Amino acid sequence: MGRLLALALARAGHAVQVFEAGGPEAEGAAARVAAAMLAPLAESAITETSVVQMGQHGLTRWPELMAELDTPVFFQRNGTLILWHRQDASEASRFGQQLAATCQQLPSLPAPQHLDAAAIATLEPTIGNRFSQGLLLPGEGQLDNRGLLNALLLQLQQAGVAMHWHSPRQPEDVHSDWVFDCRGLGASEQWPALRAVRGEVLRLHAPGVELQRPVRLVHPRYPLYIAPKPGNVFVVGATEIESDDMSPMSVRSSLELLSAAYSVHSGFGEARILESATQCRPTLPNNLPAIRRIKPRTLQINGLYRHGFLIAPAMLDVVLELVQHGASALAAQFDLAIEEA
Ligand SMILES: Cc1cc2nc3c(=O)[nH]c(=O)nc-3n(C[C@H](O)[C@H](O)[C@H](O)COP(=O)(O)OP(=O)(O)OC[C@H]3O[C@@H](n4cnc5c(N)ncnc54)[C@H](O)[C@@H]3O)c2cc1C
Repeated sequence: MGRLLALALARAGHAVQVFEAGGPEAEGAAARVAAAMLAPLAESAITETSVVQMGQHGLTRWPELMAELDTPVFFQRNGTLILWHRQDASEASRFGQQLAATCQQLPSLPAPQHLDAAAIATLEPTIGNRFSQGLLLPGEGQLDNRGLLNALLLQLQQAGVAMHWHSPRQPEDVHSDWVFDCRGLGASEQWPALRAVRGEVLRLHAPGVELQRPVRLVHPRYPLYIAPKPGNVFVVGATEIESDDMSPMSVRSSLELLSAAYSVHSGFGEARILESATQCRPTLPNNLPAIRRIKPRTLQINGLYRHGFLIAPAMLDVVLELVQHGASALAAQFDLAIEEA
C-alpha cells in the first residue's frame, strides 16, 4: 500500500519520502508473501459486499496503474476455477449459495459458470478428469506480487523519491505536510485494535504442471488455492490462523497444502519446494479495511487483512481524493468510513 501510494503522490507532483522498517526486498511485508489473487466474488463467501466492490474497482484499475510502470508485471484475468472433492460437496454447495447471493446483490458481477468434468478438462487440460464438478468465476484475476513490488520500487527511485531503508518510524516522528501510515502490523502499538492473522504459503517450482488460472479447492477450514505465477512457479496457500506467531510453517500446514496441490495435479509430486513462508495479515476487529485520521493531514491506512492486492487500488483512489479535496465520494461508495482517532 505504501509503495503504491508513494508513487501516485510523487506522480501528482508532491515531494515524497518513504521510511521503511525493512529493506528493498520488502522482507517484513505481508505483500511479499501474498498470493496476490484478485478474486472479489470468491472472497465474497468470507467478506462484505463493500470489499467485493472495492475488488471490482481494483480489477479495472490495476491495468491502468501497471501501464504507468516501466517494468512489465504479470497480471491476468482468466477467472478463478473452484474445485472440490466429493467429501466436500456440502461445503461446496454452501459456497455456491453464498456466491449466488452476492451476485444478486451486485448484478454487475459476472455469474459463476457451473462446470462438469469435460468443461474442467477443456479449461485446464492437465487437470483432466479428476473432478466431476466445478465453478468458473469469470474475469477474476491475479498478479505477480514480487514483480509488482520491484517494479514500484524502480519507479519510485526513478521519480526521485527518497527511500529510507531500515528506518522504522511512527507517524509523530515524521515532520511533513502530509503523513501516511501504511505500516500494516507495524502500526499495532498505536492502533491496538489491529490483530494478526497468520498465513502460511509454499512456493513450488513444477515444470510438469501448467495451469491457466488460480485454482481454489473448497476446504472445511480455509480456502486453499494454487496460484500459477510466471516460470512454472506456483503459490500454494494459505492457512488462516488467529495468531501473531511468525515462526516457520507447521508440519500440519505443509501436509495440508502439499496434499491439496497433489490432489489437484499429480505433477506436483515432482515439484521442488522453493520456499515455505509465514506472514501475518493486518486485520481489524470487523475484518474490514479502514482509514483513520489521527491529526489533520495524518492518515492511517490499515486492516487490509487478506485483501490487500484486491483492494489497494480502491484504497489508493480514496486517499488521493482525500488529499485533493478533503473528502472522498468513492469512500462513501465503498462504505468506507474515514474514522477520526
Ligand atoms: C499468506 C498471505 C496470503 C495473502 N494472499 C492475498 C491474496 O491472494 N490477495 C490479496 O489481495 N491479498 C492477499 N494477502 C493480503 C495482503 O498481503 C495484505 O493485505 C497486504 O500486504 C497489506 O498491505 P500493507 O501495505 O497494509 O501491509 P504490508 O504488506 O505488511 O506492508 C507494511 C510495510 O510496513 C513496514 N513497516 C512496519 N512497521 C514499520 C515502521 N514502524 N516504520 C516503517 N515501516 C514499517 C513493513 O516493513 C512493511 O514493508 C495475503 C497475505 C498473506 C499473509
